[in-house]
Amino acid sequence: MTTQPHPLLPTTVVGSYATPGWMWTALEEVKQGKYGVTDIKELYDDAVKIAIFDQEKAGVDIISDGEMRRFFFVQNYYKRFTGLAPIEPLRKTGLYGYDSPVRYRPVEKIKVPEGLGIVEEYRFLRQNTQKPVKVAVAGPLTLTIHIHLEKNDPYYKDRLELAYEFAEVVNAELKALVAEGADFIQIDEPSYAIIPGTTRDWIQLFNKCVEGVNAKIALHICFGNLLSRPRGKRTYRWMFPDLLEAKAQQFVFEYANREMKEIELWKEFGIDRELGAGLIDVKSFYVETPEDVAERIRETLKYVPAEKLYINPDCGFFPVPRWLAYLKLQRMVEGTKIVRKELAG
Ligand SMILES: [Zn+2]
Repeated sequence: MTTQPHPLLPTTVVGSYATPGWMWTALEEVKQGKYGVTDIKELYDDAVKIAIFDQEKAGVDIISDGEMRRFFFVQNYYKRFTGLAPIEPLRKTGLYGYDSPVRYRPVEKIKVPEGLGIVEEYRFLRQNTQKPVKVAVAGPLTLTIHIHLEKNDPYYKDRLELAYEFAEVVNAELKALVAEGADFIQIDEPSYAIIPGTTRDWIQLFNKCVEGVNAKIALHICFGNLLSRPRGKRTYRWMFPDLLEAKAQQFVFEYANREMKEIELWKEFGIDRELGAGLIDVKSFYVETPEDVAERIRETLKYVPAEKLYINPDCGFFPVPRWLAYLKLQRMVEGTKIVRKELAG
């Protein structure tokens, strides 16, 4: 694999792409047992090819596989774990929310015998694009989010202990990804803002999970995006300066849906990392104009030098219909081109 040099202000995505309409229908058929193994493989392969096609056509510089094989962000991972028993969802009526998914409890020590499956995702992506790619991997804390521990759980003292075991699982997956040629990996930890705890604990855990991984590491922290709803208090301020201890070359933060709130923290705390700036609102049907995007980039450039700035949406496109996700990507690319021209003078 050859790594192409990126243009100034590289455009990229956070991870997930929109689920096409036909895929929702097909997944229903899968649930009813109407698809065989080969049909299912074809379904997912086709979905990834569409995600690649749309990103390439929109002109995005660094693309993902759209996470088309990962339903609802992390939920498909649990199928790969052993030692878990499902518990009834807390709420079954009404609109789907954070209290709707099936939860799990450990019935023995949890194992992930065949890894998280991201290496296979990466291989397929690599085979189907010439573009530089980014791979997103759920972080160890986030992997614990649907696992419910009893007060005196016989297997894990607390969530942190469980998360440290998952850090080893993630670390092995990251090293395998690098061995396959991945050079830009993003760890997703929306849970920092959701699960009670201290940034210090989360950063130690993060550093454990990326230990010895030889690639550009980005850390995506957002406030939740389940069907476009956030879950955590939407501020990064409390995480600094502790977050500067994280062994990540890039932070990927959401700004667009917060109307650029706290972008000034980059100067205030002298943050020396690259910024993957979320400048497209994935929670709104409002379609940003290229000029809107350009304005947000100009605002960001007051606090972050151009050489350290990547342009991306706030979060994944999973809760967005495909036509809208595509349009938003296009506008992101067009807006970035305006500012590139200005910078080139
Ligand atoms: Zn996110």
